[in-house]
Order: sequence, then C-alpha cells, then structure tokens
Amino acid sequence: MPNDKLHVIHPLVVVGAGPVGLTAALAARHHQLPVLIVEAEPEDRTRPGSRATYLFQETLDLLESVADGVTAPITEQANNWESLRTTYSGRQIYFKRFPPCRPGKFGAAISQRESEQVLLKRCHEEGVQFRWKTSVTGVHTTSDRVTLTLDDGSRLHASYVIAADGARSAVRRALGIELDGDRSESSFVIVDVAEDPAAPLERTRSFHYRSPAVDGRNVLMVPFAGGWRIDLECRPDEDVRPWQEEPLLSQWVAAVAGPKYASRISWVSTYRFHRSVALSYTDDHARVLLTGEAAHLFPPFGGGRGLNSGVPDAIFGVEAIAKALSDPASARQIINAVATERRLAGIANRDAASSALVHMEARGRLLRLQQRLAALLARWFRRPGEWLDRAPMGPSRPVSARSRF
Ligand SMILES: Cc1cc2nc3c(=O)[nH]c(=O)nc-3n(C[C@H](O)[C@H](O)[C@H](O)COP(=O)(O)OP(=O)(O)OC[C@H]3O[C@@H](n4cnc5c(N)ncnc54)[C@H](O)[C@@H]3O)c2cc1C
Repeated sequence: MPNDKLHVIHPLVVVGAGPVGLTAALAARHHQLPVLIVEAEPEDRTRPGSRATYLFQETLDLLESVADGVTAPITEQANNWESLRTTYSGRQIYFKRFPPCRPGKFGAAISQRESEQVLLKRCHEEGVQFRWKTSVTGVHTTSDRVTLTLDDGSRLHASYVIAADGARSAVRRALGIELDGDRSESSFVIVDVAEDPAAPLERTRSFHYRSPAVDGRNVLMVPFAGGWRIDLECRPDEDVRPWQEEPLLSQWVAAVAGPKYASRISWVSTYRFHRSVALSYTDDHARVLLTGEAAHLFPPFGGGRGLNSGVPDAIFGVEAIAKALSDPASARQIINAVATERRLAGIANRDAASSALVHMEARGRLLRLQQRLAALLARWFRRPGEWLDRAPMGPSRPVSARSRF
C-alpha cells in the first residue's frame, strides 16, 4: 500500500462530469477551491437524448450566483413555451397562451445536451481539472479524508468528495447507502424529434389524456430549443417494444405530432421511472456528499425536478465544503446539516413528482372518475380543465425556499 504522506490531498474531488458535477466544479471555483473532476467517459462523448428540457428560473439564478454570465448562452438558445394545451379523448379542454416575454424570464426550455456543453466550456475557462476516461471503483473514508480507488488501480486522496456519478452511483454503492423508494408501474417511451425550422409548430406544452392517436394512452409533448420531447405512457402490463420500434414508432409519432415528424426522430428510449431518495446524503465521517441522481431519482413529471434539484445539491454542498475547510472544528456539523437539508428537499421533490405520476397513471377508479368528470365539466367551466392541465406538472413549487427544490 503506498505511503499516503507522499500523495497530494485534493481539497475537493468531484466524481462525474454530468451537469451536476460540472455545476459543483463551478461552485468550487467560485469559492476559490481547486477542483478535479473524475469522469468515466471520454470528453468527446455523445450524451443521449434531451433529458432535462426545462431549467427553472431559480436554477438559472443559482448557476449565475456561482458563475456570472454562464446562463446567457443557455437563455440565448432556449425557447420559451408559448402556450399550454390539454386534451381529453381528443377534445381540447384547456388552453392558455402566455404573453410574449424575453427569453429566460421564466426559465429555459433547452436540451440537457446543450446546457451541459455550456457548463463544460465554462469549467475549462475557470481552470477546473479533468481526468476523463477514468472510473471510480472504490471509496474509503476516514475522519480526515476520502480515498478513491480508480479503475487503473491508482488512488486519489481528497479532503472532500462530491459524488455526482449518476443513477448507478459507484460512490453511493461503495459507501453502502441504499436508495429508498420504488418505480413507476407503467413504462414510458420517450422520443425526441427535431423541429422543422422552415415551418415550426407553436411552442405549446401539451398533455393528451386518453389520446385516440395512441389508442387511449396518455401523451405529453414538451417543446425545447430545436425540438420536442414526446413521452408516451404505456399500460402497466403491456410489452412496450412495438411502441419504440418501426413501423409503429413512426406511425404514432406522426399521429401525435404531425406526419413530417415521423422522419425527424432523433432519440428513442424506454423508462420505468424511479422515485427514490438515498437514505443518507453523506457517509459516516461526513466527507462525501451525494448530489444529483447519485442522491435521488424522480420521474420527469411534476415540473421536471431531477436536474433542477441537482443544481442546488451541488451549489449548497460545495458552499458547505468551503465552510468546513475553513472551520475544521465545525466541519462535521456543517456537512451533516447540508446533507440533511438536501435530503429533505429530495423527499419533497420525490413526493411532488410522485403525485404527478399517480395522477397520470390513475390506477384508482375514483381518480379516473374525477378526471372524466373534470373533462366533462371543462366544457362549461375553466377550473376543471385547469386542474387536469396542472396535475401532471405536480404541485406548485415554492420559489425562494432554498431547501425545497
Ligand atoms: C427521459 C428523462 C427526462 C428527464 N427530464 C428532466 C426534466 O425535465 N427536468 C429535470 O430537471 N430533470 C430531468 N431529467 C433528469 C436529469 O436528466 C438528471 O437529473 C440529470 O442528468 C442528473 O445529472 P447528474 O449529473 O446527477 O447525473 P448524470 O447526468 O447521469 O451524470 C453522471 C456522470 O457520472 C459519470 N460516471 C458514472 N459513474 C462513474 C464512475 N464510477 N466514475 C466516474 N464517473 C462516473 C457518468 O459518465 C456521467 O457523466 C430527466 C431524465 C430522463 C432520463
């Protein structure tokens, strides 16, 4: 075993160069901490799909608080949603058009692939160090440091580690921290289609209950800069493969979005969404903080809280690490406090995303009846249609409470 005294001890190592790891690194530079990101994949990788297609205004503000100007290239590219539409069995029951506003005023509708590129570029400008194509395979913590084992057998030592290594987090597993929660009963087929720049559709976030275009299944369509994400909710007991394969894939995309979009499909994937939160966000020695999908997994419904919650995990986590480094006597308390605060936020977000999913899956007869009745009443009253429009987006999120998203 090598003599640890001969090794550099990094103040902070971040595991994972996804959007949350990149955000943590920017927060570290904001606090003048040198930071190294260890990432399993190569820098020139292609990231799959649009994924987090909506960054809340609060998320943009938080990013700005650690990297002045970083959101400008995001909001410049991003599109605003122009309107909301909900249909039930093919009949429109709710429509709302937003007044025109400057891009970025209410958040940013942009593919995660694009927002990650902006964060990565800024990390390079801020002097963040990277170790690409290197996986963390083991983690050992003591009262004064973390030792990471890498896939080439070498070790890295750090005072603190931010684990941002995603849903299958090797760091979380090495620390023996379990996820608490379950998965959706239904599978979802998620499709990205590219917009036709010559004749774009109005940028309407639309939710279709029991759409005849897909034999009575629910469909969500979300616009983002340059494209659309279409989420098809399949039935719990069905084989979803035909829906993600040709010829059915092109047929249903054409029926939902319009014929020209059948040839503009750029990504297809199938998910049963987890709704889980780690039982602890830190280790016994309060030296590692779990962030982003290493800490929590939510369905993308109920407002899209995955990345929007990962950004504050990273920023408040690094803020706590900076304090702990300058106040070793209180370090443990500081780290435990932020871990608890972010875990409570994770639980609140899991519950919000879950309630949206429960509404969409509508397993209970009473809920199905309520939805049908609301759709009927929406012919005469606005409120029932508004309820059907809002529910898949989850409860309203508090704007300023830092511990809640
Ligand atoms: C279909 C879909 C739709 C979504 N929609 C939304 C939405 O609308 N709004 C929203 O906020 N969120 C949404 N999300 C969630 C969002 O995509 C995630 O929250 C976000 O990607 C999490 O970022 P992350 O950095 O924590 O993890 P990841 O993006 O998974 O990044 C983890 C990184 O760690 C690296 N890594 C993994 N293991 C190791 C290892 N052992 N050593 C070193 N590196 C490692 C990986 O290569 C990767 O680069 C959606 C997700 C999906 C799948």
